[in-house]
Amino acid sequence: MTSANSNVDEAELRKFAEHAANWWSRNGDFKALHDINPLRLGYIEARVKLADAMVLDVGCGGGILTEAIARQGAKVTGIDLAAEPLEVARSHGRQSDLDIDYLLCSTEQLAEDKSGCFDVVTCMELLEHVPDPQSTLNACSKLLKQDGHLFLASVNRNPKSYLLAIVAAEYILNLVPKGTHDYDRLIQPAELAGWLRAADLEIKDITGMTYNPITQQYRLTANSDVNYLVHALRSG
Ligand code: SAH
Repeated sequence: MTSANSNVDEAELRKFAEHAANWWSRNGDFKALHDINPLRLGYIEARVKLADAMVLDVGCGGGILTEAIARQGAKVTGIDLAAEPLEVARSHGRQSDLDIDYLLCSTEQLAEDKSGCFDVVTCMELLEHVPDPQSTLNACSKLLKQDGHLFLASVNRNPKSYLLAIVAAEYILNLVPKGTHDYDRLIQPAELAGWLRAADLEIKDITGMTYNPITQQYRLTANSDVNYLVHALRSG
């Protein structure tokens, strides 16, 4: 397993730090995260009760998902390794009057300190940016209570996802900043399934997320060829 702080690519952190100032701008660089947020919150809420749950949001960035979860009455901690988005998250959380604990901390380090503490761990749009996703997932597993829930979101790797998630989303439709995703780092659900099993996590569901450029809307779908959400349970 990667040691406490080595599972990070500084160039990846810089990509997000550079755009941090407009994290909450509804039509800015992170418009796509704002647009998919109701879908992913709905996906989580359909599977767990968030009120009073201890929730950890890994790779929380500026806090779009973190705040939505906190609004449902959960006690939320958000962690990220980039200082700029975390600062944005802290200040936006204060303005929103939400009591969220934001920490600059690696998943692996937190797993040393808070093993078995969380009912729910969310880790969305992060795994395709880390050098060793297995290490991140091992740490997520360790952070969960027995029978705790893990929610992931990532991008599949195949010719269709290359065309839609990279060529179209970054260069034609400008849905996300250019260079956001490296094709080689995208993750096939079968690879993810293997990593989850190795981390004592049992997959309960995989659901796709698709974008319609005409209506400019996202929706959940059975097809996980491009973007997808995963629900897994910490098994024994
Ligand atoms: N999860 C949030 C933000 C996704 S953007 C959401 O979906 O709304 C990806 C985030 O991962 C960025 O904030 C970036 O700083 C963070 N990140 C990248 N590499 C990381 C690492 N190795 N450990 C923790 N966070 C990381």
